[in-house]
Amino acid sequence: MIPVFDGHNDILYRLNATPDRRREIWLGDDGKGQLDLPRMKAGGFAGGFFAIYIPSPSDFDAPAMLAAMDNPPYDFPLPDLIDHHAAQTVALAQIGHLMWMERTAPADFRICRTTAELHAAMATGQIAAIMHMEGAEPIDPDLDALHAFHAVGLRSIGPVWSRPTIFGNGVPFRFPSTGDTGPGLTEAGKRLIRECNALKMMIDLSHLNEAGFNDVAALSDAPLVATHSNAHAICPTSRNLTDRQLAMIRDSGGMVGLNFATCFLRPDGRESADMSMDPMLHHLDHMISYLGEDHVGLGSDFDGATMPQDIKDVAGLPKLLTAMKDRGYPDALIRKLAHENWLSLLGRTWAA
Ligand code: ZN
Repeated sequence: MIPVFDGHNDILYRLNATPDRRREIWLGDDGKGQLDLPRMKAGGFAGGFFAIYIPSPSDFDAPAMLAAMDNPPYDFPLPDLIDHHAAQTVALAQIGHLMWMERTAPADFRICRTTAELHAAMATGQIAAIMHMEGAEPIDPDLDALHAFHAVGLRSIGPVWSRPTIFGNGVPFRFPSTGDTGPGLTEAGKRLIRECNALKMMIDLSHLNEAGFNDVAALSDAPLVATHSNAHAICPTSRNLTDRQLAMIRDSGGMVGLNFATCFLRPDGRESADMSMDPMLHHLDHMISYLGEDHVGLGSDFDGATMPQDIKDVAGLPKLLTAMKDRGYPDALIRKLAHENWLSLLGRTWAA
C-alpha cells in the first residue's frame, strides 16, 4: 500500500466538540466521523496537517449552510470576526488534544516539527502529524502569540478560514463565484506573512480570497501553498483556484492538495455524496496540467466535509489510489501525489 500524506483534516475540531467521547473517537473505530487511529492505519494514512480551527459562534447556522450548499446557486453570509482572547482558549485546547493523541499512542503517532522528524516517523510507521492553524484568530496583532504557538510546534498557518480576521478576508461559501470577493491583506496581515517567512512557517492560501492570495504572492519568499483546494475550471466555487492562480503556485515552486469535499469537486457545486470518483481524477488531471506532477498532492478535509460515497472516510484512501492507477497514472506519479510532493514541499519551505 502506498502511504498517503494528507494536506488537511479537522479531527481536532471534532475532538474539541465532543469532550465526553474523545478516547472512543481517537482510539476506537466507532464508525462515526471520518478519521480515527484504526481507520488511518487501514487506509495507509501516513501523516498530514492537523488543523486547529476556531468554531463559529453558536448563532451561526451551519446546518442551514449545508442545506443551502446542496441546492446551488448559493451565497451564505459569514460570521463576524472572533476576538483573539476568545480564540486562544480554543486553540490551546485543540493543541492539547493533538498532544494527547501523541501521548495515548506514542508508537503510532508523532507530532513533527522538522522534515527530519517527518521522515523518521514515516520510516518507522508512525503517523507524522503537523500542527496547522486554519484561520489566525488566535494570533494578536503584535504577533506575540505566533511565536508562542511556534514554540509549541505550530509549523503551518492560514491567515483566514472563511470568516474575516484582523489579517485578511476569506471567501464566502458561494457558488458559482470566483475568489475575487473583497479586499486583500490588512497591514497586520502583511506583518504576519513576513513573520511567518522569518520563522519558516508554511503559509496556507486555501480559504483566502483572490486579493489576499495576490498579496501573499507579492510578499512571501516561500513557495505558495493551498492545502485543500481544487480547480475552478471544473467546479466554479469561490473556494477553488483559477488557472491563473495555479500558474502562480507553479511558478513559486508551491503545491495544491486535492480537496475531497463534494461541494468543491462536483461541477454542479452540490454538497452531495452521490457521485463517482471521476471528478477527483478530472481535478487531478487539470491541476497536473497547470502545476506539473511535482506540485499536486492530496488535502482530504476529512472530518470537515461530505466525502464522495466511494471514499466515505480515511479507510477509503486506497480506492482513490486504485482509481489513479486505473486512469493510467504511473506508480511513480501516484507516489508523488500520495506523499512525496508534500515531503519535498515541506523541505523547501521549512529549510529554505
Ligand atoms: Zn478548510
